[in-house]
Amino acid sequence: MRVLAIGCHPDDAEFGCFGTLARCVARGDEVYVCGVTNGSGGSMTLEPDEIAAIRVKEAEKAAKVIGAKEYFNLGVYDLYVDSNNRDTIDKLVDVIRYTKPDMIFTQNPDDYMRDHIETSLLAFNASFIATIPNYKTKYPHTPVVPAIFYMEPVGVGDFRPTEFVDITDTIELKTEALKCHESQYGWLSAHTGNDAFSGNRALNQSRGKQCGTTYAECFSRCMQNQRMNTYRMLPEGR
Ligand SMILES: [Zn+2]
Repeated sequence: MRVLAIGCHPDDAEFGCFGTLARCVARGDEVYVCGVTNGSGGSMTLEPDEIAAIRVKEAEKAAKVIGAKEYFNLGVYDLYVDSNNRDTIDKLVDVIRYTKPDMIFTQNPDDYMRDHIETSLLAFNASFIATIPNYKTKYPHTPVVPAIFYMEPVGVGDFRPTEFVDITDTIELKTEALKCHESQYGWLSAHTGNDAFSGNRALNQSRGKQCGTTYAECFSRCMQNQRMNTYRMLPEGR
């Protein structure tokens, strides 16, 4: 299986699906990670380009921790994600044409932050466009419209998961990857008033209880034409 995670900001894919991606790597999948923004908004003290340079490096390091083959960043500035921007669409289409994913993990279309919503739309759109031969970019079209699994959004009250993945064996690797985002620990705590890293672990623990294990990540599957199939794609059991 070929797997591509499309997170909005550097660290979003980490929070939402890195336990699952680590399991995908363990079963022999080719795993790729792509960030849409460069993280330019994630600091109280540094200038946008200064913090962006740090954050893209942190995300590259995090992707290496779980054994991803490659990390991509589309370089969009935080708070400017626009799913109709042709340049951004083309960049993501080429990441998809290059990585040829069978399945994509991305942001949930219902989310508290506009950048996340736009990223979700962008992933949905670009992964369809990537299959159209007459849409010309650097790489040739891919034949398959990939499945999409939407990650659990932060703090959305009515998120309804349809899929659970046991990440008990990879939770420590996920935590190690999250810790690569050193610059964000203070920022997230200052901005949200709580410790986002341990909050995510608690969320995975509570999702684990719901499906009879210790830690789990959950997703809702995109149930649109050509996105469905007859077999389980996500890692099974523990
Ligand atoms: Zn984000």
